[in-house]
Order: sequence, then C-alpha cells, then structure tokens
Amino acid sequence: MDDGQGPYATLFEPVQIGPKLAPNRFYQVPHCNGMGHLRPRAHAAMRGIKAEGGWGVVSTEETEIHPTSDIAPSVEQRIWDDRDIPALRLMTEAVHTHGSLAAVELAHNGQHAANLLTRTPPLAPSHMVVDSLHPVQARAMDAADIRAFRRWHRAAAQRAADAGFDIVYVYAGHNMTLPFHFMLPRYNGRSDEYGGSLANRVRLTRELLEDTKDAVGDRCAVAFRFAVDELMGPEGLQADGEAAEIVAMLADLPDLWDLHLSGWANDSVTARFSPDEGYQEPYTAFVKRLTDKPVVGVGRFTSPDAMVSQIRRGVLDLIGAARPSIADPFLPAKIREGRIEEIRECIGCNICVAGDNQCVPMRCTQNPTMGEEWRRGWHPERIAAAASDDPVLVIGAGPAGLECALQLARRGYPVTLAEASTDLGGRARAEAALPGLGSWIRVADYRTYALKRMQNVEIYLDSTLTADQVLEFSFAHVFVATGSVWRRDGVGRRARRPIPGLDGAFTPDDILAGRLPEGRVLIYDDDHAYLGGAIAEALKGAGRDVVLVTPAAEVSAWCVNTLEQPRIQRRLLEVGVDIVTARGLVAVESGQATLDCVYTGRTVQMVCDSVVTVTERLPNDGLAQALREDPNRRAAAGIRTVKTVGDALAPGLIAAAVYSGHAAARAFQADPAAVEAELFRREMPALD
Ligand code: ADP
Ligand code: SF4
Repeated sequence: MDDGQGPYATLFEPVQIGPKLAPNRFYQVPHCNGMGHLRPRAHAAMRGIKAEGGWGVVSTEETEIHPTSDIAPSVEQRIWDDRDIPALRLMTEAVHTHGSLAAVELAHNGQHAANLLTRTPPLAPSHMVVDSLHPVQARAMDAADIRAFRRWHRAAAQRAADAGFDIVYVYAGHNMTLPFHFMLPRYNGRSDEYGGSLANRVRLTRELLEDTKDAVGDRCAVAFRFAVDELMGPEGLQADGEAAEIVAMLADLPDLWDLHLSGWANDSVTARFSPDEGYQEPYTAFVKRLTDKPVVGVGRFTSPDAMVSQIRRGVLDLIGAARPSIADPFLPAKIREGRIEEIRECIGCNICVAGDNQCVPMRCTQNPTMGEEWRRGWHPERIAAAASDDPVLVIGAGPAGLECALQLARRGYPVTLAEASTDLGGRARAEAALPGLGSWIRVADYRTYALKRMQNVEIYLDSTLTADQVLEFSFAHVFVATGSVWRRDGVGRRARRPIPGLDGAFTPDDILAGRLPEGRVLIYDDDHAYLGGAIAEALKGAGRDVVLVTPAAEVSAWCVNTLEQPRIQRRLLEVGVDIVTARGLVAVESGQATLDCVYTGRTVQMVCDSVVTVTERLPNDGLAQALREDPNRRAAAGIRTVKTVGDALAPGLIAAAVYSGHAAARAFQADPAAVEAELFRREMPALD
C-alpha cells in the first residue's frame, strides 16, 4: 500500500482543476469505445469500473452536441437535447459512486462528419469536401451559423452540468472538430474576423471556452483538449510553431489543458510503430511552461516510474491514459497497493481501436472483460468462486490456455497446465519476435507471472500430450487449447481449392519457428491482417529478396481498423519489399508463380525461389476429437467434460483466443442458461 511515503506517492496527490478536486493524478482521457449513445448501460458500467479501479477522472468519448455533427455509423456519445441526459447520468453516477470526477468531451465534428443519418450539410470554415470518402461536401459557415454553433455548444455544456459532469471539454484536436478546423489555414480560407490572422482563427475556440465557462459557472471545470502537433511539418500545426502561440494566447483561460498529437493514428500509434512509453513528450513538454493550469497528456503509460518521472520533471500534472486504462482498469489501484507486477500492461496493438472503427463495443487483447462489464456482468478483477474442487487439466499454454488456466485457478480450481514446448505463451511469444511486435510478449508474461505465484497451479513444460495419456491421467475436466496450424496449400478467401505446386511452400509457422526460405521469396497474403506484412519485413531484414502479393488493393488491408495500414505499407516500401496488389496466386511451377488479376483474370508470371502462404489456418483439434471419440473409454477414465478453446476451436486474433479462454473458465460449472442469457443481453430502444 502506498501510504503517501512510497516512491509513487505523488501519483496519489489530489489536483485542483478549476472548481473541482481530482482525487489523484490518474486521468482517463476521452476515448471511443463503440458503445456510446446506442449502449448507455454498457458504457456506464465500463466507465464505472475504471473509477472503481482508481482513475481519478473518467471521461466520455466524443459527445456530439448537435444533429449537424453526426458521424454515424460510428457510435459515439450524444448530447443533442435533454433526452440524452438520463443516459449520460448513468455514467456520471457510476463514476461518482467511486469518488472520481466525470468529464464529458463535447464535440462538433464539422467536416469530419458526413451526417449520413441526419442528412444535414456538414459545416466547415470554408466550402470543402468532407475528409471521409463519402461524396459529401461541407458548406462554409456564415455569421449566423457561427452564432448558432456557439448557442448549441453552450446548451450542451448546460446539459452536461445537469447530467452531473464535473468537467466539460472544449475539443480542438485529432483533426476531427470545428474549432480545430477553424485554426488551420489549410481549411480556413475566410476573410472575416474568424479567418486570416492566428488571433482570428483562434477566435472561435476562445469564444467557446468563454461561453462554456459562463454556461457552467462553478458547477464544472472547463477543459481544453488540444492537438499540439499534426506531424505534417509546416503543412500542419506544429508544437514549435503556431501551436505554441495558441497555448500562449489561451494560457490560463481553460481550467485544464489536455494534450495530444493529431490525427488519431498519431495519437494512438501502435507499439509496432512507436514502441516507447511517453512518446508524446517531445511535443507536449513545452505547454507547462506557458500555463499555470494543470496539464494532462498521454503516451501509453503503464509504468509508475515513467509516470512519476513525468510529474517530477514538470512535463505533466496528470497522467492521461486511454489504452492503458482499457487493458487494466485497475492500474491505479495496483500501483497504490504495491502490486506493480500485476498490472496488465497494454501491448499497443489497437484491437480496441478496431472495435470502435467497426462500430461494435471495443474489445481488448489483454483485458477480455472489456466491453462485457454490463452485457455479461464480467468484472476485470472478480470472478465467481469454484463450484467444486474438481481438478482440471488445460492442454496448451498459448493465449487461450494461459487465460483459461489463470481464471480457473483464480476461481479456486486445482489446475494442471501442460505445454508441448519449452516455454509458455504459444503464438503470442512466437509473434512477439517479429519486427515491432515485441510488446506482445506481455500477453504471455502477465499470465505466466500470475500463474507461477498460485499454489493451486502445476505447470508442465515439454509435455506434448496424447489422447491416451490424457485418458490415463483421469482429470475430471479437460480444456484443450492446442492452437492452430497455417495452411500450406494456399486455400483461403480467394482460392477455395488447393493451389497447385505449393508442396514445398513455407507458412507463418515455419517462419516463426526459424525455418526461413531462401532466394527471392514470394509472400502470398490472403489473410490481410498484420502477419503477412510483419513476415515480409522480417524476411527482408534477414536479407531475403521479398515480394508481397495480395488480392487486396493494399497490404495488410484489415489493419486500416488498427490505424496501421498506411504505416505498414510505407514501412515495407521503405525497406524495399516489392508490393503487388490485386493479384491472386494461381499456381507455382519450376520457379515461376502464376498470378491472376482479381478484376480481369489475366495472368502474369513471376520468378521466385520460394513461396510463403499466409491464407488460412486449421484448428489443432485432433486431440479434442480423439478424447470425444469414445465416450465409454472417456467415462471409464473419469473424464466428465472436454472443452476446446481458442484457436483450436476457431482460429482468430490473439484477442479472440484470450476471450475464448476467459469465457470458458467463467462458464465452467456455471448455470448454462445464465451463461446463454448473458450472451444475448441487449439494450432495447424504449418506445415512447
Ligand atoms: P491459442 O491462441 O488458441 O492459445 P496457440 O497456438 O498460441 O493457440 O497455443 C497453443 C499451444 O498449445 C502452443 O503453445 C502449443 O505448443 C501447445 N500444444 C499444442 N498441442 C499440444 C499438446 N498435444 N500438448 C500440449 N501442448 C500442446
Ligand atoms: Fe492496449 Fe491492445 Fe488492449 Fe488496445 S486492445 S488497450 S492497444 S492491449
């Protein structure tokens, strides 16, 4: 327990934010989550658990203030009128229950919103096409529009105070909001008092800050979320350029500065492309020199030493976090209680972001309970006690087996974990060896550490179990988490029959096991997630001549959801990987690959010495099938249940394997009807 004397005591000091007192320096900054206005109970439960876990301030995601700011189908928060207040109050009450402050990020998305639902023309400083690919143009706001916008923002701030929020944001950042668009010369071509000079371009922001303060008085603090750099050089806002002037101009007007890099892909950069904790410091550090108001900033902070260093060196006053608070809602509590090793550290994979980008409640690789707090009633730190003292055997210690074993052990079951290889972690450990994915080892490390400290867990490495052995052991319950194997024959989305000539091909399993192809290597990526691109980079780094062929229009196309796709393509081009898009692999013969155009079917030949197929996986379910084959023998051996989890059930992302292992452990010896009911718990629209 950090009693105020320990090395991390400063993190637990209260911080005055305008009229409000934050109980500590842990600040969950606004972040999207795919729950938003459509799933208010799920949203409130998720935020409430963060407060319970010790975050002194807990914020909403962006909260649209008016129907002219509608980014449907994305699911954000809304405060269009008073009818939104009850849903928002669910959140503020959940946060207040634990003594934390609730913050709301008011937003008008300007030309970032295509207004597909409300069908109103988007608003912008000047006439321009919207920044998404919709064939929609925004119209230039006239003086009446600006007056109306200020009125909407003021009304939203008053509603926010009525909903119980302690902190109300003015939001100019991420290249996503009107006040930010007004600041930027590339968007603002106005010749009135809102365009031209910097003071004119900042006028709208200044007015919003003044309006908001006036609207909420002492009921709320007013925070300003501001992007200090767009990483575009002189084309965009720069920390050592106009951004510094803006901070100086507005210095003590807001009660709090909340800083970030714009756009979202820079702010939430993955560990693959920015591995260091505190990566935003070079851009944000100047702000504290220009204001007396508290400053919060982010940087994928998971280590208390790095956090304390930020405070001591005068970089930040409050430690901001989105992803670290998703991966471990109890991060502050664990620091306070001296349980540093128990922190479930974010791996920087952006699977959470992908959930939001796909308009579903976010999921997290490290925290399988994320998004399931209300729907399934899952708590990240609590789980039902064991219903018996039956011993269980978990076979396979990849992400699924580790998570399953850990949660079963937490419930109190005597757990035996058997792993074929000499290390724990399965594919998480193997893939962490690929360029940029080193932090993924945390999936294994967090669970391994926890399991090794538990008295009711026995771990056997180097133990490839056969069905006969399992039958001899006579465990009452067996969980099979034996993973999957990548197909060598090219079968996948595009080729539903084996591609001729791939007998000698390599697969990701070969590469991850250190068996590398020679000469000119053709990687055929019909998987479209991260692995094909990561393997291309690895093989290039190992000195191979690499061409990546994909039927998609770009490499690692799915990674647009994790905000990584452009960076992956740039990285591969920079290191000299040849990229061939919109081509399928048809056949391989005598050092020649035949490729066909996905549109015309026209074929071309390509010389290559070896092929790596990244297409589809097959579950390693032979062991589970063998155990199920003979019910009489199984019954004679005393085995009552056999449950397959993770990739052995259905190959997917590591996040899916962890979730599968977690769900199986929770469902074990629980009432099946209750388990089924929680899966289909829905938030139904109320009919007036
Ligand atoms: P998942 O993502 O579902 O956890 P992984 O492939 O990462 O799948 O992990 C599966 C793990 O199971 C690997 O570490 C592998 O060595 C192990 N394994 C596979 N077959 C057996 C077996 N018969 N006995 C013990 N361990 C096994
Ligand atoms: Fe971190 Fe990945 Fe979880 Fe997002 S999904 S919080 S990036 S571990």
